[in-house]
Order: sequence, then structure tokens, then C-alpha cells
Amino acid sequence: MSARFPDFRLGKVLATSFTGTLSERHGDAVERIPTPERLLDWLAVSGLTVQSCTTAQLERARQLRESIHAAATAAARHKPLPVRAVKVINECSVQGRAAAVLTPENTRQWRTSSVEDALSVIAADAIGILAGERDGKLALCASPTCQAAFFDASQSRTRRWCDMGTCGNREKKARFHANQRKTARSAE
Ligand SMILES: [Zn+2]
Repeated sequence: MSARFPDFRLGKVLATSFTGTLSERHGDAVERIPTPERLLDWLAVSGLTVQSCTTAQLERARQLRESIHAAATAAARHKPLPVRAVKVINECSVQGRAAAVLTPENTRQWRTSSVEDALSVIAADAIGILAGERDGKLALCASPTCQAAFFDASQSRTRRWCDMGTCGNREKKARFHANQRKTARSAE
């Protein structure tokens, strides 16, 4: 994997892990799948290996990603889902021919032979979450520059950050420095 591209932020939930390939949407946005090859890398680490990707397929993938993001954001805000976004998600779900197979280790593996197949798995995962089939709820990251939609499967449903290692950590550091400044001022 090339070092000149930004790292992936991989989550446990496929659909929101995918929307996380564009981060800091409300700040200096970081595109983590800038090239077709990078999308192939992301798909491979996400268990959806395919051999080739064209620029048009990358565009389609990004369209699905932003549609999932829009729908998940609306769901987290208890707003009606945007019709266009739902249309793209459904089209991507229908267009693929991915198949699930059970391995001897009792794990699920996806057989995918094209980007469309891989996108159908991601779209189906998004549909499962948006339909409320999974235990958890959609929420938005509390970082003002991020506001990424994530799936909160914590017992208390009080998770605040899309990712503890990045957004959560940054907030913790900011609070730490603010406290230090306060302590320094009161010591003067
Ligand atoms: Zn975040």
C-alpha cells in the first residue's frame, strides 16, 4: 500500500467505514480513495477484493458513498431520507451479483468479481442499518469539522466520535490544553 495516500480509517461497520473514506467533510476534507487503485486497496482490506477499477467505477463508488452519508445523516437527525440518495443506494444494491460463502472456519466471505458487486454489498449493509435492522443507532460525530455519520453500537448509545483514535483524541487534546491554559492563568 502506497505511503503517499492518506491512511484508511476502518470501522467495524462496512457502510460507515466506507463513508469514512472521505473525512473532515466540514473542514479540510481528506479524500482517502483519490484513485481507482486506492479504492481497490480499500475494498481488499474490507473483504471485498476485486481485480480492476475504472475511473467511472470510482465515480460511482463515490456517488454511493455520498448517498449513504446523506441518508445516514438524515436518519441520525430523524429527518426523512433524501429521495435521490435512496435511489442511488437501491440501484447499487440491485446492480451487483455478490455472493456470500461460508468458510470452513465459519466466517462469511464475499465472492465479488467487479466493483459493482462490491458496491452492492456496501449498499446492502447501508440498507440494513438505515432500515433499523441492526442493534445500534446512527449518530453524528461531535467534531464540528467532521460530523461524520457513524453507527453507535455501544450499550449506552452515547458514543460521541466517529473514531476515538482521531476525532476523539483531538478533542481530548484540545480540552487538555484548554485546562492547562486555565491552570496557568489561575497560578499567575
Ligand atoms: Zn469524526
